[in-house]
Amino acid sequence: MFDKILIANRGEIALRIQRACKELGIATVAVHSTADADAMHVRLADESVCIGPPRAADSYLNIPALVAACEITGADAVHPGYGFLSENARFAEILEHHDIAFIGPTPEHIGLMGDKIRARETAAGLGIPVVPGSRGAVSSDDEARRIAGEIGYPVLVKAAAGGGGRGMKVAENEAALESALATARAESKAAFGDDTLYIEKFLGRPRHIEVQVIGDGAGGAIHLGERECSLQRRHQKIWEEAPSPALNAEEREEIGRIVAKAAAALNYRGVGTVEFLYEDGRFYFIEMNTRLQVEHPVTEMITGIDLVIEQIRIAAGMPLSVSQDEVTFSGHAIECRINAENPRTFAPSPGRIAYFHPPGGLGVRVDSGVYHGYAIPPYYDSLIGKLIVHGKNRTECLMRLKRALGEFVIDGIETTIPLHSALIAEPDVANGTYDIHWLEAFLARQ
Ligand code: ADP
Repeated sequence: MFDKILIANRGEIALRIQRACKELGIATVAVHSTADADAMHVRLADESVCIGPPRAADSYLNIPALVAACEITGADAVHPGYGFLSENARFAEILEHHDIAFIGPTPEHIGLMGDKIRARETAAGLGIPVVPGSRGAVSSDDEARRIAGEIGYPVLVKAAAGGGGRGMKVAENEAALESALATARAESKAAFGDDTLYIEKFLGRPRHIEVQVIGDGAGGAIHLGERECSLQRRHQKIWEEAPSPALNAEEREEIGRIVAKAAAALNYRGVGTVEFLYEDGRFYFIEMNTRLQVEHPVTEMITGIDLVIEQIRIAAGMPLSVSQDEVTFSGHAIECRINAENPRTFAPSPGRIAYFHPPGGLGVRVDSGVYHGYAIPPYYDSLIGKLIVHGKNRTECLMRLKRALGEFVIDGIETTIPLHSALIAEPDVANGTYDIHWLEAFLARQ
């Protein structure tokens, strides 16, 4: 097992990872920008290293500074968290060259899944259902027209290098295809320096359902069920739950089995999430994330398995701590993302937290990096915490969530807590009958 882990991240996820290290008896190193000197993840770590000025490019994304911090502190492993360098194959490779373990998949798997066309081909080859579309990249407008004609309109033009919904354009019919291709190509070139495109059938009213897998890197892999993340604004998830209100036990079992088998065949190492769109009882692969997800706690709450501890064990060469037969699903969990944002306009709301009182009680978990008097810097993501609630069924979970949101006090800044309270009062949310467009339509009505 490792002696000392450097956590290359900040905020709630840095604290989350520290908690796992402490339980395993591993020393922790926090890194921070000059803007984060007072952050909780720095205060609670055994050691800390300042790695640069506020801009993420100069600090949390600064690979030489991170490697130097490992050398100075003698850390033998790095946990990247999510975002920042978590899906950067080069970072994983550089650490390996320095004999520092990267707590995540191999650089090859990160690279494979980071290229959306190769990811799609790999998934299809492993028996995972994909959205009907082009086999690989489309090389000309003529080819695009032919493929779109075959799969039927509307179609979605996507960037191979895409991320965060950029470089993606819907074409309703053939007349609109040419301009969709041109716009997607230009957007993708500008955002990613690559204008390779592919085409998929555009699904009208899908849900977003993702499957959690863990692999031991040696052909063993299990799934931990699914998470439903359809409540999104501009492709950003804001509320996640497990299990999905849309699936029955057979569907869950089948998609889980397919994903675990594929991860085993790849010799996948570490945790990963296979994301699907789900419509009319069918799953369609969209991408695989080769890292820990923001919403991993809902899976932990219904399985009792600590995903970060599993990640650390696997990176240290230990076997999975449970077999598929030993995984049991119990009750229901919901996570609400608490962002420092205006709950109507979503304008960022950094600044000093004048009063902080998190909720408690049975089944309530708060993962957050903030405290009373803390000043939220304006440089980073607006996620400041997550409220995760567990109940023996969805009804109890919703009841408990309503109570916990009512107890949560964060004064001095604006947060998305009032939005979550409003969502609970909506019949579609209470009944679990929503798709990926529901939240935007709800917000437009407000
Ligand atoms: P990115 O990597 O840019 O986030 P994804 O492929 O994960 O792109 O897609 C982001 C979101 O776009 C999905 O969550 C879904 O809302 C929408 N989307 C993607 N593919 C399709 C499709 N074929 N039909 C309809 N919506 C889609």
